[in-house]
Amino acid sequence: MVKRDPEAFLKEEMTELRKNNLEWIIRHLEAGSRPHSIVDGREVLMLNTNNYLGLATHPKIIQAAIDATKKYGAGAGAVPVIAGTFDLTREFQEKFAKFKEVEASILCQTGFAVNSGLIPMLVGKPDVVVSDELNHGSIIDGVRLSGAGRIIYKHNDVGDLESQLKEAEKQNPRRICIITDGVFSMDGDIAPLGGIAKVAEEFGAMIFVDDCHGEGILGNGKGIVAHFNLQGKVHVEGGSMSKGFGVFGGTVAGSKDLIEFCANKSRTYLLSTAHPPGVVAANIKSIEVVETEPEHYRRVWENTNYFKKEVQNMGYDTGRSETPIIPLIIGDPGKAQELARILFEEENIYGTPIVFPMVARELSRIRVQMNALLTKDDLNTALSSIEKVGKKLDII
Ligand SMILES: *Cc1c(COP(=O)(O)O)cnc(C)c1O
Repeated sequence: MVKRDPEAFLKEEMTELRKNNLEWIIRHLEAGSRPHSIVDGREVLMLNTNNYLGLATHPKIIQAAIDATKKYGAGAGAVPVIAGTFDLTREFQEKFAKFKEVEASILCQTGFAVNSGLIPMLVGKPDVVVSDELNHGSIIDGVRLSGAGRIIYKHNDVGDLESQLKEAEKQNPRRICIITDGVFSMDGDIAPLGGIAKVAEEFGAMIFVDDCHGEGILGNGKGIVAHFNLQGKVHVEGGSMSKGFGVFGGTVAGSKDLIEFCANKSRTYLLSTAHPPGVVAANIKSIEVVETEPEHYRRVWENTNYFKKEVQNMGYDTGRSETPIIPLIIGDPGKAQELARILFEEENIYGTPIVFPMVARELSRIRVQMNALLTKDDLNTALSSIEKVGKKLDII
């Protein structure tokens, strides 16, 4: 018999990652997730959170979490289908459906859980998924779990989507489902949802849009469907309360039939515990804040337009960015890591290097994300550091 070392591969694979500059370093926040925070003992300016509107530390939202925790306790006790959800959850779902202008919505564990739990129920072996080539990893996993045929179309290319739908049709599938991110998380560009809806209709295809990064920042916070005025034309809208809304959780919005189906079929919904009441209450308050305090939305866009123009003038390649996600595309992963390290250690600027497998190796980058709470002074400080270190490393 071979004498095996059952754990040897752990160290070997980590050594390989380090050698290729592909290791993730998990830093630790010692204060709230806001632009001025404390990370690993250092006061830094954070340019890397999905908390676009700054709601993670909004006083009204924090208070809602405290009040609900006092009333209902810390945990939910069970998965929703076994011991029920809180009345707060019902209130959230009704409010969110109204906000999204759809019949119904459901609060799921996370955005990842929506994709990995629901997609494999919407499609299976006899079906074909037509998927954008840059879709989020959780979509890719959901599609793999489904066992459905998979056809990839060129990123944001409606013409290619149409050709691939014709290919899909040749396989004589039971159903065809088009899946796309709303706002693409690594490049910050927006899916051409109007064109997608038009070709989908021709083929009788279902449209599933994952709008995790569009919520809060497009369509006055309502997301990509409102942005393109496509209410009623998109069948499944997946989302996350953990990004623009600043709290936590996954969402599905759509028809009453879809939501009942999801509550009965999605495996992650059926088998994973419901949110703590404090989280649900904070989610409710977060929607309210987005609806009643438009200044956060206005500010994140003002900051985006200013910062993007300035880094472009310095000579940085920001790719296809159309949103507060602003990649500084460097290319070489080692150089992207080095830029991030110097910015952090010498300039107290926290921007995360994004390398394989999140993006292709040769498109390594620092992904900057704008935040409504950043002041003009903060932006100018960040810009001057980014210019200084970029020049030092011969990036610009
Ligand atoms: C972040 C993200 C997810 C995962 O959402 P969570 O709520 O953080 O689990 C899914 N899809 C896309 C496109 C995302 O950007």
